[in-house]
Amino acid sequence: MKYFSTNKTVPSVSLMEAVTKGLASDNGLFMPERIEEFHPEFFRRIHKLSFQEISFEVAKKFFGEDVPENILKEIVEDTLNFDCPIVKVSDSLYSLELFHGPTLAFKDVGGRFMARLLRYFLQGFQKEVNVLVATSGDTGSAVANGFYDVPGIKVYVLYPKGLVSDIQEKQFTTLGKNITALEIDGTFDDCQRLVKLAFLDQTLNDKMVLTSANSINVARFLPQAFYYFNAYARLREAGIDGEVVFSVPSGNFGNLTAGLFAKFMGLPVSRFIAANNENDIVYKYLRSGKYEPKSSVSTIANAMDVGAPSNFARILELYNHSHQEISNDMVGYRYSDKEIRETMKMVYEKENYMLDPHGAVGYRALKADLKAGEVGVFLETAHPAKFTETVESVLGKGTVVLPEKLAAFMKGEKLSINLNTEFANFKQFLLQK
Ligand SMILES: *Cc1c(COP(=O)(O)O)cnc(C)c1O
Repeated sequence: MKYFSTNKTVPSVSLMEAVTKGLASDNGLFMPERIEEFHPEFFRRIHKLSFQEISFEVAKKFFGEDVPENILKEIVEDTLNFDCPIVKVSDSLYSLELFHGPTLAFKDVGGRFMARLLRYFLQGFQKEVNVLVATSGDTGSAVANGFYDVPGIKVYVLYPKGLVSDIQEKQFTTLGKNITALEIDGTFDDCQRLVKLAFLDQTLNDKMVLTSANSINVARFLPQAFYYFNAYARLREAGIDGEVVFSVPSGNFGNLTAGLFAKFMGLPVSRFIAANNENDIVYKYLRSGKYEPKSSVSTIANAMDVGAPSNFARILELYNHSHQEISNDMVGYRYSDKEIRETMKMVYEKENYMLDPHGAVGYRALKADLKAGEVGVFLETAHPAKFTETVESVLGKGTVVLPEKLAAFMKGEKLSINLNTEFANFKQFLLQK
């Protein structure tokens, strides 16, 4: 399968090149030239398949031409050795829990999948590969843990100083070995800008092999489509009928874009809800047809604090830049921190379900938009314990129990290196490595 750039000024590339480069050389995002559809029959028996089995079928549609089946099977099995259950929260409204992986957030799947795919492509490759990743919190941990100790690969995680939670920070700053954490005196957008500039810098690219592991990488975001197929299967398995609506707490829009791919592959989805915090660029686009990126603002759902959502270019491409067509498949909502807190409290007290701040945005939007006869699924993108401080400030001290996996990270020592937002400094740092 070939991958083209959304900017369309450079030739298409192979999967291997798309994965190792991350971003196209004209600064566009890679898109597969075809989206393979499933036969409708597949959806009639999907409820009989496990999360792993479904994911293997979906992975073959994406990567089957480029990766031998036995390798793909190994990658899927190694990436998805945990569950992805649906849990009923209120009437016709379900939480798809994406937090049962190693770092307890949905990005684990893409992080691990990409690491394994990259390792496959780099077999026999002499040079060391440097993965650059900007994180607003969860990407860093998923990528760092996915790539930890993978031979021939070094990872640099850039994160905004003071803007990620303690637990998030511990998950990628304590690993050491091939993982370097860079604490940037700025915002997530500054981190993302530094990474983008590095890819465009000729000197750096001449001296070292650079790739990205942000959700701009096709190997990171496409595997997230597995979740949507699985949610549908688990609903049907439980005998739950009705048109399915997905609500997706969104920042860079990688997760939601993966959902759109699932729909294009034939998954019966009635519509998607783009659930935003106060970083409401896409919400505004859906209302006005105008896309106006701006600086991000900090919220309590910090993994969604994105002012220029990179995957939006892919959404435009999928729908031929038609605002009308996009609006047929997607509606937008946005919530303030106050509303997020309210929702967490209400759902905990009334439904006995603990939401993290991101899931709360998804839940609230779904509750507002769901029509009679429909079944709603919101993506619970992280375990509430990843945001213990915020959650306990709303629900009360002692309400959150730290899972074993997180407690282990908290014991480690932070090993970050401080940098300012000057690209020249970052470049110098990389060149000295
Ligand atoms: C990354 C993240 C999001 C946003 O996902 P995008 O794919 O960037 O839209 C939402 N919630 C959590 C917990 C995340 O880590």
